[in-house]
Amino acid sequence: MSKKVLVIGEAREGTLRNVTFEAIAAANIISDGGEVVGVLCGSDSLEDMGKEMIYYGADRVITVANEELKTYTSDGYGQAVLAVINDESPEGIVMGHTSIGKDLTPKLASRLESGLISDATEVVAEGGSIVFTRPIYSGKAFEKKEITEGLTFATIRPNNIPAAARDEGRAGEVTEKSVDVQNIRTIIKEVIRKSTDGVDLSEAKVVIAGGRGVKSAEGFEPLEELAELLGGTVGASRGACDAGYCDYSLQIGQTGKVITPDLYIACGISGAIQHLAGMSNSKVIVAINKDPEANIFNVADYGIVGDLFDVLPKLIEEIKQMKV
Ligand code: FAD
Repeated sequence: MSKKVLVIGEAREGTLRNVTFEAIAAANIISDGGEVVGVLCGSDSLEDMGKEMIYYGADRVITVANEELKTYTSDGYGQAVLAVINDESPEGIVMGHTSIGKDLTPKLASRLESGLISDATEVVAEGGSIVFTRPIYSGKAFEKKEITEGLTFATIRPNNIPAAARDEGRAGEVTEKSVDVQNIRTIIKEVIRKSTDGVDLSEAKVVIAGGRGVKSAEGFEPLEELAELLGGTVGASRGACDAGYCDYSLQIGQTGKVITPDLYIACGISGAIQHLAGMSNSKVIVAINKDPEANIFNVADYGIVGDLFDVLPKLIEEIKQMKV
C-alpha cells in the first residue's frame, strides 16, 4: 500500500550530508510508489538544497527557514518538523542515524506516541509490509522489525542503503513554510568542529584507523597520508585517544562512532570487543598488527602481521605507483 513518507534532511556547512540521499532511497522503498516529501530546516535560503533532495528522489520539499534554526537545537527543529508533520500527516518519517537524528527522532516519536526503528542497515518491502534490519548486541547479531501500519520513525545508518543516482532532470516543488519557533531552552554560543577537515568519519568510504600501536601523534602521519591517497579519513581506537595521540572525535567503537566504510584498515589496534562494536560491519577489513594472535585478525578479511611503520610506507609507495 503506497504511503506518504517524510525525509528530514541534514546539512553541514551549507551542504547536504550524503546520508540524506540514502534516507530518500529508504523512504522510496517505504512509500512503495507513494510520495516522498523532504523537510529542511535552517536560517538561510534552503531552495538549492531542496532541489538537490529532488534530484536524489524526493517528490517535493518543504523548507522552514528561521533565524532560530541557524544551528540545531532539539526544541527548534522539533517545533519546525512537528509543524510539517501536522500539515502533511505522513505515515513514515526517515532520517540519518546521526547525532541529530538520534536526538530528534525519539523526541518526536514520543511526542506523537509512535514507533521508532533506529540504526537500520537495510529496508525492504515484503508483501505489503516493510522489514527493517538493525544490528543488536554491538553488531554481533541482527534483528528484523516488520511494520505493517501506523506512523513509524526510522533512522538509517550511514553508508548502508545506497542512494539513487543524482538526476537533474527530476522536477518537484520546493515550498517554504513559516513556523513561529519559540521558547528554545538551549543556547548555542559557538560550534567548534573538532574532527579533522575533509571527509566525515561516519560517512567515509575509507577509514584508516590507528591504535595504541601508532605510539604518538606523529605516528599518525603515515595513516593520514594513506587516507588522503585513498580519499578517506583517519579514525582511532580509544587506546590511541586515551594516550593523547589524537582527538576523541576520531574514536570508533561502543562509546565512539559506529561506522560502515567500504574499506577499514586497522593499524596497531588489538581488536577489543568495544572497538569491534564500531567497525565490524565494515565491508572489507584489513588489519596490520605485529602480534599474530591479536583479536583484530578474527574479524579481518586481510591480515598483515608486521610492524605498521614498515608496512604503511610500502603500501603508500605501491598505491602511488598504481596511480601514476
Ligand atoms: P591495545 O589493546 O594496547 O593494542 C595495541 C595493539 O597494537 C596491540 O595489538 C599490538 O600488538 C599492536 N602494535 C603495537 N605496536 C605495533 C606496531 N609497531 N605495528 C603493528 N602493531 C603494533 N575502545 C575503542 O576502541 N572504542 C570504544 O568505543 C571503546 N569503548 C569502551 C567502553 C568501555 C566501557 C570500556 C571498558 C572500554 C572501551 N574501549 C573502547 C577500550 C577497549 O577495551 C580497549 O582498551 C581499546 O580498544 C584498546 O585500544 P588499542 O587496540 O589501540 O590498544
